[in-house]
Amino acid sequence: MIRRQQSSVRSLASISTQPMRESLGASVLVLNRFYVAVHVAGVRRSMSLLCRDLAEVVHMEDGQFANYDFDSWRLASELMSVERHPDDDWIRSVKFEIQVPKIIRLLFYERIPKQQLRFNRRNLFARDGNCCQYCCRTFPHSQLSLDHVIPRSRGGQTTWENVVCCCVNCNVEKGGRTPREARMKLASNPIRPKYSPLLVSKLENPKYESWRTFLPAAMKVKNA
Ligand SMILES: [Zn+2]
Repeated sequence: MIRRQQSSVRSLASISTQPMRESLGASVLVLNRFYVAVHVAGVRRSMSLLCRDLAEVVHMEDGQFANYDFDSWRLASELMSVERHPDDDWIRSVKFEIQVPKIIRLLFYERIPKQQLRFNRRNLFARDGNCCQYCCRTFPHSQLSLDHVIPRSRGGQTTWENVVCCCVNCNVEKGGRTPREARMKLASNPIRPKYSPLLVSKLENPKYESWRTFLPAAMKVKNA
């Protein structure tokens, strides 16, 4: 056991000190001990939990889920590296490559955190699909801003129902006017999302299909 822990710590050090490839942008669904989805984590956080034996990998194989600790996942990765699937992400350390798991399970965490849907730029951009709600074009985050449909100067609130994703040009054109005054039509009525927009946007990507097994019933069906 001691030997295994030392080996894992060394592996963690070697992974964290090496530059990772683009797979750093991948997402990992985190389950609690009872296989209930609790949140979505990034690659660094997930690998750190795995290396410290605080979590294990839950991997879909032939329609069933198999569990791996860090060392067995590293070995499994070696085998899987022979025939790589385009949907899989990999990170490289000094001595080996390891597949980024899609799902991990926290071994000692039993709670179900209260779902808090944060009102922030990231979630709002995700709700609107990075699409300007006036010109209906998609932009990178750097070219997007938030628009108060009813301007703040007219008492408009900063809420899910009154703020939309908007490109810089449309924002300037609309100025401090209402859409009606500016003769600009909203692509859709802004609403408070039922589920995390980031999670929903991830589910549109087939590579995260295996997540649905652990999500609320309404999210298990495609396009729910
Ligand atoms: Zn626009």
